[in-house]
Amino acid sequence: MTTQTPKPYDYDLVIIGSGPSGRRAAVQAAKFGRSVLVVEKDPRVGGVSVHTGTIPSKTLRETVLNLTGWRERGIYGLGYRVKKDIDAADLHARLSKTLNYEVDVLDHQFARNRVSVERGLARFKNQHHIEILTEAGQSHTISADKIVIATGTRPYRPANIPFDDKVVLDSDGMVSLETLPRSLTVIGGGVIGIEYATIFSALDVRVTIVEARDSMLDFVDREIIADFMHQLRDSGVNFRLGTPLAGIQIEAGQPVAILEDGRRVRSDMLLYTGGRSGATDHLNLEACGLKADSRGRLKVDPDTFQTDIPNIYATGDVIGFPSLASTSLEQGRIAACHACHQDVPHAPQFFPYGIYSVPEISTVGLSEEQARAQHIPYECGIARFRETSRGHIMGLHGGMLKLVISLETRKLLGVHIVGESATELIHIGQAVLNFGGTFDYFIDATFNYPTLAEAYKIAALDAWNRITPRKTET
Ligand SMILES: Cc1cc2nc3c(=O)[nH]c(=O)nc-3n(C[C@H](O)[C@H](O)[C@H](O)COP(=O)(O)OP(=O)(O)OC[C@H]3O[C@@H](n4cnc5c(N)ncnc54)[C@H](O)[C@@H]3O)c2cc1C
Repeated sequence: MTTQTPKPYDYDLVIIGSGPSGRRAAVQAAKFGRSVLVVEKDPRVGGVSVHTGTIPSKTLRETVLNLTGWRERGIYGLGYRVKKDIDAADLHARLSKTLNYEVDVLDHQFARNRVSVERGLARFKNQHHIEILTEAGQSHTISADKIVIATGTRPYRPANIPFDDKVVLDSDGMVSLETLPRSLTVIGGGVIGIEYATIFSALDVRVTIVEARDSMLDFVDREIIADFMHQLRDSGVNFRLGTPLAGIQIEAGQPVAILEDGRRVRSDMLLYTGGRSGATDHLNLEACGLKADSRGRLKVDPDTFQTDIPNIYATGDVIGFPSLASTSLEQGRIAACHACHQDVPHAPQFFPYGIYSVPEISTVGLSEEQARAQHIPYECGIARFRETSRGHIMGLHGGMLKLVISLETRKLLGVHIVGESATELIHIGQAVLNFGGTFDYFIDATFNYPTLAEAYKIAALDAWNRITPRKTET
């Protein structure tokens, strides 16, 4: 008779948090045949991405664009509306449908892959043991060979901001508004602030963006931002740039942003976007020998996502930059591969940023400013969407695609797009960039016609016409 040695741990891998990085790590490890448990403190799986961040904000955007008829205004005029009076209930209807569906798909994915899920707050007891505290106040301890911390972040709420979740909100509050404001002040010109500012502007809400710096979205090519800001100003968005916030007062039920230069911005509602903090405070990290930084973030090996404690990994927003659902998913997969002793995939050098503002922006690789700062001889090629037949059909007046290319090697260095479908179109450029391709690809390739993707060819020809010497007739 053979006796089986009992497994030293309850699970091969325990993942704390069911957001994009936790989900991907769990499913990947399960596919390798490991026993996997996901611990999630919220009643439903999905994390910030599904419940308060990526998916809700993108669903709100899609709903607003559809109900306002925003995409059709280039053809039918600025007064065109699909639905005249849009209220908060209209926005929630589509939101809850989408979120329920996302949760359902995720539950099914876990069940199909035999990933166990426990509801409760996880806290370390030591390097291999985790206590799970349920909402009912019960607790029990489980053990794991490897652990992935995928607890994400929560909005940073400075003590001097009078949040009441009704007229002064953070981004979490924007997904459960009871009424729509007629005016909105957005503090912070980062990605989240700009996305919500422009979504509400498309709803005909009077929007003012307050940003302490003179510029915004500094990681994006300046020519793209100039075009973007022109479009925003044209649609009535106000900017208070280079003016730090001194404080917020509530006057007659309305928030008033007091700026350091003495200006006051009054509105029905104020959205404060001052960054996010790592959700590590409940983890009892000292019990496993880890320490978070002042913003609650954890340090990891960028190739494996191992922390300083080799059997504990950290992935997703809890490790900081770049804090995207897209990159978090990949980090989860890499951590799971390493934890399960499989070949560890290496992410390609360039990943895209998608800013789902109205109009949207997407960017990959070097901006013109970065190419100049790195002393790379470069040339740019530009295409306006209105130059494409597809753009005419869609009634697009704005939108542009810019290529940055090396003059020495002809290699593509970067792609920057503002306008309709930017976040989809960027992947064509991303593929060429990560394969080390030259901009000749766009000149020689045949594109479907009519498409917005044709803008790649037009931009490449724009650069080619400027840099290619003409042969003289003999
Ligand atoms: C408004 C907004 C818009 C965004 N838009 C985009 C976008 O368009 N594209 C994009 O790529 N990214 C976007 N992001 C970023 C994206 O949402 C995050 O990068 C992503 O959600 C991070 O995933 P994560 O794996 O770190 O986990 P998260 O999604 O942050 O989830 C972490 C989970 O861990 C759980 N948890 C925390 N502590 C514990 C504990 N102690 N015990 C048990 N469970 C715990 C939480 O309840 C949560 O469910 C957006 C974010 C916001 C806020």
